[in-house]
Amino acid sequence: MAAKILDGKKLATLSEEHIKTEVSELLSKGIQPTLATILVGNDPASETYVRMKRNTCKKVGMQSIAVELPETTTTDDLLEAIQKLNSDKNVHGILLQHPVPSQIDERKCFDAIDIEKDVDGVTCLGFGNMSMGLSAYGSCTPAGIIRLIKHYELEVQGLNAVVVGRSPILGKPMAMMLLNLNATVTICHSRTINIESIIKQADLIVGAVGIPRFVKTEWIKQDAIVIDAGFHTEKCGDIDLSEMDHISSAYTPVPGGVGPMTINTLILHTMQSAKKLVS
Ligand code: NAP
Repeated sequence: MAAKILDGKKLATLSEEHIKTEVSELLSKGIQPTLATILVGNDPASETYVRMKRNTCKKVGMQSIAVELPETTTTDDLLEAIQKLNSDKNVHGILLQHPVPSQIDERKCFDAIDIEKDVDGVTCLGFGNMSMGLSAYGSCTPAGIIRLIKHYELEVQGLNAVVVGRSPILGKPMAMMLLNLNATVTICHSRTINIESIIKQADLIVGAVGIPRFVKTEWIKQDAIVIDAGFHTEKCGDIDLSEMDHISSAYTPVPGGVGPMTINTLILHTMQSAKKLVS
C-alpha cells in the first residue's frame, strides 16, 4: 500500500482559514492579535524567516510589530527590548529570531520572555511545563509535527520513536512531546554510537539533525512513520525520502511537510494567547 503523505502545506492552509475566522471574531471584540518579532543583526536567512512570519500574520489579519536591532546589540539592550514588549498589553506573542549575534546571552534573553507571550516555546519554563504535561506553548516545529500526527490520526502510543537531534528548539522538545503521547523515545545525537542500528529499530523516526539526507533509505524499517524536519538548499531534508512511498506507512514530504506547520503553529499560538483575554 502506498504511504500516507503528511501534507503540512495543506493542513497549514486549512488552519489559516480557521485562524482568520478566530482573528476576525477577536477584532469584533476590540482585540487585535499581535505578534512582536525581534530581529538582531543582519543574517540574511533570519531576515527571510522573520519576513515570512510577519507576512503570514498580515495574511490572517493579525498585527505584527517589527523590532530590528543592530549587530552590536548587547544582552542588556536586548533584555530591555524584551521587557518593553512584556509590559505592552497589546502584544500577545514575542518571537526572538534565533540565532542572535554571539556577544549576546541568547538563553538569558529567551528566558526573559513572559511565559504568557512565549508563543515560540523557547523558555526553559515553557519547556518544563510542556514536559510535565502542563499548559504551555510548545516549541513551534515539534508542536507543528504533533499537530500533523494528530490530524492524520496516527497512533503513536507504544511505538519505538527515535529522534535524531537534541537541539533545544527541536530534538529535545520533540522527544518530550512524543513521550507525552506514550511513545517509547530514544534521542540520538553526534556522540551516539551505532546510530544506524538504533534507527533500524524505529517505528517512528524524526530527522532533526541538520545534515542533508543523513538518514539512509536502508536504515528505515518497513512501514515506519517518517518525519523529516530538515530543509536544505538542495530541496531535501535530513532523511533520504526517495523510496518512502513504498517503505514508510506515512511520511512528511520536503518541501511541504514540516516547514509550513512551523509558521502556522506560531500564529496559531499567538491567536490563542490573544483569545485568553476574552475567555
Ligand atoms: P542544530 O541545533 O544544529 O542541532 C542538530 C542536532 O543534530 C544536534 O543535537 C547534534 O548533536 C545532532 N547531530 C549533528 N551531527 C550529527 C551526527 N553526525 N549524528 C547524529 N547527530 C548529529 O539543528 P536544529 O536547529 O535542531 O535543526 C535541525 C534540522 O531541522 C535542520 O535541518 C534545520 O534546517 C531543520 N529545522 C527546520 C525547521 C522548520 O521550520 N522546518 C525549524 C528548525 C529547524 P549534538 O547535540 O551532539 O551536537
